Amino acid sequence: MNEESERRLARNEILFRDTNEAIERGQWLADSGKHVRFRCECSRLDCNRAVPITLADYEQVRRFPRRFVLAPGHEMPEIETVVDRGEDHVVVEKKDAAGETAAAADPRQ
Ligand SMILES: [Zn+2]
Repeated sequence: MNEESERRLARNEILFRDTNEAIERGQWLADSGKHVRFRCECSRLDCNRAVPITLADYEQVRRFPRRFVLAPGHEMPEIETVVDRGEDHVVVEKKDAAGETAAAADPRQ
């Protein structure tokens, strides 16, 4: 996969991450053990799977600008590495150009 494709796929995921940041802002953060239905942050623009994880788990993912939370099976090994697998979700870390794009667009930096 070329660098431009990697960056384009990363931008799709960044879009979903921004959506999830908004979902999280709507939550009561003290209730961190509660499961929230976040959007799958995969690179498929037509994906609308919900990924139920706790606010505490989502916060763990968001501490790393290259990490995203996806529905199981939605990972793309060409651009990302699975770093954690939960019951209903996987956490991936972006590689190379996709990782740079994701880090540069991190809303928390
Ligand atoms: Zn997905």
